[in-house]
Amino acid sequence: MTVVRDFEGLCALVTGGASGIGAAVTRQLLTRGARVAVLDRDLAGTPDGALGVTADVTDDAAVGAAVDRAAAEFGALHTVVSNAGIGAVGTVADNPDDEWRRVLDINVLGMVRVARHALPHLRAAAAARPGCVSLTHTCSIAATAGLPQRALYSASKGAVLSLTLAMAADHVREGIRVNCVNPGTADTPWIGRLLDQADDPAAERAALEARQPTGRLVAADEVAAAIAYLASPAAAAVTGTALAVDGGMQGLRLRPA
Ligand code: NAD
Repeated sequence: MTVVRDFEGLCALVTGGASGIGAAVTRQLLTRGARVAVLDRDLAGTPDGALGVTADVTDDAAVGAAVDRAAAEFGALHTVVSNAGIGAVGTVADNPDDEWRRVLDINVLGMVRVARHALPHLRAAAAARPGCVSLTHTCSIAATAGLPQRALYSASKGAVLSLTLAMAADHVREGIRVNCVNPGTADTPWIGRLLDQADDPAAERAALEARQPTGRLVAADEVAAAIAYLASPAAAAVTGTALAVDGGMQGLRLRPA
């Protein structure tokens, strides 16, 4: 298969790039010619060829140092994929304030910190490579779908969606495109960990697959391909968009039982 090297000369930072969707994005951008830095609190699964920088997105100073290091190492930063995030289960009453603060600190403020530190580098890059400079958030269909037992997680991703749209408006004239991808249930280590908590993980996986409109989970590579598209020069006219990669879960008005 011929690989289009449409990221040649472009430099990227992927948060949460050591696992799941972020690792898939990292591999795809590397294959398509980008230099890629992975920001993660656990670099163990970082794909070969990426520059690993350890940081927790709850630590503003560490995020700033990691973003600056990637930009200094590469000489520029054109593409930021802000993807690090965690799950949370329960109704609004099930999680105490401390748990709300912990999850929002990672899923929402984490993305705010990454954006804040990346913006000066993205502005500098936009002048040199118009259309090629972007920030892409990994959001979720939980932002818009009304999923049961996901109050805290959905609120966090709803904030990410609103942040994406507001940032797209604020930075469009600076040549910085801001979009998000809304995955459905994607087959990543995260889902594996959830399934492992069931009495019969294989039966639970089969039931989860049966609840999907397509009868299967979304592959991490399928979400990554959408993120790579939004970050690519082909999407030069795309900003302020939420692209669902959910096997039809939202559009078909179906939801997990
Ligand atoms: P994952 O657990 O496989 O990977 C998440 C990565 O983020 C890990 O490498 C982890 O170390 C890193 N990370 C977590 N908290 C961090 C922190 N505080 N600081 C730095 N790094 C941190 O999960 P995934 O399924 O690939 O999820 C990636 C993103 O996709 C998340 O934002 C998640 O909300 C979103 N998402 C996932 C699904 C799904 O079904 N898997 C669905 C919708 C949205």
